[in-house]
Amino acid sequence: MTDRRAELEKRLAAVRERIAAACVAAGREPDEVQLLAVTKTVPPADVALLLDLGLAAFGENRVQEATAKVAEVARLRPAAAPRWHLIGSLQRNKAAEAARWAHRVESVDSERLADALDRAVRREQETGGRVTPLPVLLQFSVDGDPRRGGVPRNALLPLAEHVSSCAGLQLDGVMAVAPLGADPDGAFAEVESAAAALRAEFPQARTLSAGMSGDLEAAVRHGSVVVRVGTALVGERPLTSR
Ligand SMILES: *Cc1c(COP(=O)(O)O)cnc(C)c1O
Repeated sequence: MTDRRAELEKRLAAVRERIAAACVAAGREPDEVQLLAVTKTVPPADVALLLDLGLAAFGENRVQEATAKVAEVARLRPAAAPRWHLIGSLQRNKAAEAARWAHRVESVDSERLADALDRAVRREQETGGRVTPLPVLLQFSVDGDPRRGGVPRNALLPLAEHVSSCAGLQLDGVMAVAPLGADPDGAFAEVESAAAALRAEFPQARTLSAGMSGDLEAAVRHGSVVVRVGTALVGERPLTSR
C-alpha cells in the first residue's frame, strides 16, 4: 500500500511537471490547466490514495463501475469531497444513475441524451438530492466518426442551443479526444476553433477538456484547460478495458 502510494506520488509529480512545462512552452500560466485523473478500471483504494495526494477530480467512463466506486471511495475517505466527471459515452437509461453522483458530464453528444440528463437532474432536485444544475460539456468529434462519440462541427451550435434551454443543465464547454492516428496538433487546432465558435455564442462555455497521457502537450498548446490523464498517472490499464 505504501509502495503504491509512493509510485502514485512519483507519477503525479511527473504529470504535473509535464503540464507545467507544456504551459510554459505555450506561454500560459501552469494553474490555467486542471488535471482530471482518469480512474476507469482503477480500484477505489488507488482513488483514495490520489485523494490523499491532493487530487480532487476524477474521470470515469462507465456509469455502473463509477456508481460503485463513488460509494466505496466515500466509505474509504468519508471526509474527502471528490468530484466525479463522466467522460465516457452514456446511455440514456443510465442518466438517472449518473445524475446522482456526477459533478460534470463531459460526453453530451445528442439532444436525446441532454433531455434524459435534464429530466434526471430535475427529478433529483425535486427530491432534494441535488441543488444546482448539472454542468455539462459537449463532446466534439474531430473526424465525425459516430462510433467514437461526439458531434461534428455543424451540430455543435444547435446542440448547445438545446442544452442551454434545459433548466437542469449548465453548458460549460467542449470535450474532445484526438482521433486515433491523427496528428494531435492538427486535431486540437480544430477543437480549439470549434470551442471558440461555441464561446462566441455562449460566453459561459469556457471549459475546454482536451488532452490525455499521450497528447496533453499538444492540447495545452491549443487552449485546453482540463487534461484527462489516466495511464501516465496510474499505469497501464488491463487490456480488456476501453
Ligand atoms: C481513458 C480516457 C482518457 C485517459 O486516457 P489515458 O491515455 O489513459 O491518459 C481520457 N479521456 C477519455 C474520454 C478516456 O476514455
